[in-house]
Amino acid sequence: MIRVFLILMVGIISLSASILHVENWAKGETFLTFLEKNKLPLNIYYDLDSAERELATEIMSGIQYQVLENDDDNVIEQVLIPIGEELQLHIIKNKDGYEFTTTPISYQEEKLSVTVEIKSSPYQDIINETNNYLLAHEFIQAFKNSVNFKRLRKGDRVVIFYTKRTRLGRQFGSPKIEAAMVEVRGKKNYVFSYDKGRFYDSNGKEVEGFFLACPVRYHRISDRFTYKRWHPILKRYRAHLGIDYAAKRGTPIKAAGNGRIVQLGRKGGYGKAITIRHNNGYKTLYAHMKGYKKGMRRGKWVKKGQVIGYVGSTGLSTGPHLHFGLYKNNRAINPTSVVKVTKSKLIGKKRKKFFAYIKKYKKEIDVALNDYENPTKEKSFDYIVSLERKKDIIQ
Ligand SMILES: [Zn+2]
Repeated sequence: MIRVFLILMVGIISLSASILHVENWAKGETFLTFLEKNKLPLNIYYDLDSAERELATEIMSGIQYQVLENDDDNVIEQVLIPIGEELQLHIIKNKDGYEFTTTPISYQEEKLSVTVEIKSSPYQDIINETNNYLLAHEFIQAFKNSVNFKRLRKGDRVVIFYTKRTRLGRQFGSPKIEAAMVEVRGKKNYVFSYDKGRFYDSNGKEVEGFFLACPVRYHRISDRFTYKRWHPILKRYRAHLGIDYAAKRGTPIKAAGNGRIVQLGRKGGYGKAITIRHNNGYKTLYAHMKGYKKGMRRGKWVKKGQVIGYVGSTGLSTGPHLHFGLYKNNRAINPTSVVKVTKSKLIGKKRKKFFAYIKKYKKEIDVALNDYENPTKEKSFDYIVSLERKKDIIQ
C-alpha cells in the first residue's frame, strides 16, 4: 500500500490528519461489495439510477483507485474510482453521511516521438527503446494490415509520433499514434491517424482492418457512446460506454466478429450479458439480454454473425434494447467507427486536406530519422490494461 500525503483530493480537509491510499480494484469486486467491505452506506449504490449503475459495472479489475482516510479513526473521507477514459466515481463524506458524484479524471497530455532501429523485431525493439508495451502494441496494430513485418531487415528504422496521457505520474490508457513510419528494406511506409482516429496510408486509404458487423436489427439507437457528458438536471457528469440499440424483445443478437466467449452470465447493472474476446485486444459486450442461444457457454468460439442470444431488458434497463460495448485493451472505445462494412477512402476536399496534413508529418519524420532524442523509458503503467494477459496484446 502506498501512503502519500494528500495533494490531489478535492474538498476542504485537514491536511495533517488525512492519508491517501492508492489501491488496486480486486478481481470479482463490485461497487456494492466494495461499499460493504469498507463499511460505507449501501444507499450510495441503491440511490444510483440505472445509467449510473450500468456505469458502476464498468470498474475494471486491477484499476488503481484512491482512498482518503482520516488518520485518527480510519474513517473514509473520500474515494475516487476511475471509470473509462475520462470519468471517475467520487464518494465524499459530508456532515450527514456520504454523497456520490462523478468527476472528470485529470491527466496530462504529452506529444512525443521515438526513433528505433530494427535489431530483432519492431515489437521487441520498440519495447527495448521505450519500455512502453502499449506503444509497441499500437504500432503493430496500425501497420499489421499494410506491412509484412517478416520482410524487415536489420537497420530498417521506425519513427512514431504519439500522444501520451499521464495520471498520477503513470501512463494512463494506451498512447495514441498520430503518425508513424516503418522502413521495409529501406522503403518508407506510413500511417496517419485522421478522421476520428482511423489510420490511413500516405495515399489516403484506410489501413486498419478490424471491422465489426452490427450485432442486431434495431429500430433506433436510443443512446450513443460518450466518455463524459454533463447532465444538467442531476448536475453531474454521466458517461455511456457503449451503444444502445432499441429493438423488439426476442430479436436475435449476433456476434459482431469472430471470437471466443469469455464471459456469460449476470453482470451487475448489465443483467444477462455475454463478452466475446476477438483478435488484437478487442472485446465486445452484449448486455440486458433476455436469454442466451442454446449451446452458448464460456470458452466457446463463435463466428461473426452467429446468433448468441436475444434482446431483453434484464439488469438495469428501462425497455428492451441491446447495450453493445467495445473494448480495446480493456478500455471502452466508441464502436461507431468499428461497426462498418468497408474501409473508407478519403475523397475530394477531405483528401486535399489530408495531404496538406500529412506533408508536415512526413517532413518531421524525415528529420527524426537522423536527429532525435528519444523519451526516457517508461517505469510504470496505470493498469487500465492488465498486462498479464499478454496473449491479448502480442499478436
Ligand atoms: Zn447502455
